[in-house]
Amino acid sequence: MFDTLSDRLSGIFTKLRGKGKLSDADIDATAREIRLALLEADVALPVVKAFIFKVKERARTAEVSKALNPAQQIIKIVHEELIAILGGEARRLEFAKTPPTVIMLAGLQGAGKTTLAGKLAKWLKEQGHQPLLVACDLQRPNAVGQLQVLGGRAGVEVYAPEPGSGVGDPVRVARDSIEHARRQMRDIVIVDTAGRLGIDQEMMQQAADIRDAVRPDETLFVIDAMIGQDAVSTAEAFRDGVGITGVVLSKLDGDARGGAALSVREVTGQPIMFASTGEKLEDFDVFHPDRMASRILDMGDMLTLIEQAERAFDEDQKERMAAKLMGGESFTLEDFLEQLVAVRRMGPIANVLGMLPGMGQMKDQLNDVDDKHFDKVAAIIRSMTPAERTTPKIINASRRVRIANGSGTTVTDVNQLLNRFTEAQKMMKQMSGMMGLPGMGGGRG
Ligand code: GDP
Repeated sequence: MFDTLSDRLSGIFTKLRGKGKLSDADIDATAREIRLALLEADVALPVVKAFIFKVKERARTAEVSKALNPAQQIIKIVHEELIAILGGEARRLEFAKTPPTVIMLAGLQGAGKTTLAGKLAKWLKEQGHQPLLVACDLQRPNAVGQLQVLGGRAGVEVYAPEPGSGVGDPVRVARDSIEHARRQMRDIVIVDTAGRLGIDQEMMQQAADIRDAVRPDETLFVIDAMIGQDAVSTAEAFRDGVGITGVVLSKLDGDARGGAALSVREVTGQPIMFASTGEKLEDFDVFHPDRMASRILDMGDMLTLIEQAERAFDEDQKERMAAKLMGGESFTLEDFLEQLVAVRRMGPIANVLGMLPGMGQMKDQLNDVDDKHFDKVAAIIRSMTPAERTTPKIINASRRVRIANGSGTTVTDVNQLLNRFTEAQKMMKQMSGMMGLPGMGGGRG
């Protein structure tokens, strides 16, 4: 799912890498490419338009943190807007004050309603509920049998008309099932209804009649995520014909373009509540907009890194560092310590490095990165006086011994740090002179 879209998006973001600042033209070009990628993934046009408008506006006003470079800023904005169109927070099922809670399933034939009924029943049972499955799909041959098999696997009773009983009226089955549920002390009733291959008046009327007979607490619209551009008209028809309180995306394991997933929330105005990801009863989960957005961006770890970087580096600190470097002032050991502490706050160094794109394959080598080394460096700097941190030149041999003792390290460790730091300082001076350091908070206008 979303493979093509993911690839397209990461291609777009890669082009932004290394840019110090994004011009309006850069933002427009990027927005145009994202727009095309979404349309090709079958996301509905109005949804794409609204999405692109927001991304552009936010990228221009750049209300985002200076802790991030422009590429990361755009990724962050796109990620947040994806979460928003997927519905923001996950919503939970609403249970009735007086049981049974009635959950009705609606959708086209083949959408995955019957399968979903079984999955939902199993899931609710595992949470200590006593669900009852109701077979009201009397149209599709063997839908009743299929539900009975699923109920058997889930260990949940299935209410269905007796074969040969002559009861062919799904509305009556639905109404009777509620009585049955009360008698059997079931606290949840899941009603599977019939679908058609296309939307038609008769089916919609039957669904509406069942709804009126059972007065559902939740009416879940099940939609095949692979449905493509038809998603919008189908969703609108069910929203208007039966009224829905939530959406279930099925077949998210498929390899289609997945535009339905991104359109259905905006079109119906109702939250996506569950995701169905396979034919087995276990292939089911509560829908998490944020996880889905991360999956679409296919940069899970990159996103975590962005979040952590934002948290670890506060704005002031960043500004101060940039001003220092821009002004050609020297970067002191005190500054270095501050940065070191900020990086350490992000977690074990191997994890932080491992989150950089492309470092995933280097897991084994990363395991050798020793956090103790970083902590040792921090300890050495902490054993210096403020004057020494600003002007390391003044640290003489006897002070080196004292610092080593004070930090629980050796004189060689101290020497190494001081030598490396002098080298780094020289390099930074050269760099800041050479390029005015784009992306460091200066050079605006
Ligand atoms: P209904 O007509 O809406 O009741 O649809 P069914 O529940 O009978 O599902 C139609 C077909 O899709 C069946 O072959 C199911 O096994 C299959 N199916 C349902 N949900 C999923 C899913 O999440 N992933 C995959 N791969 N197949 C599914």
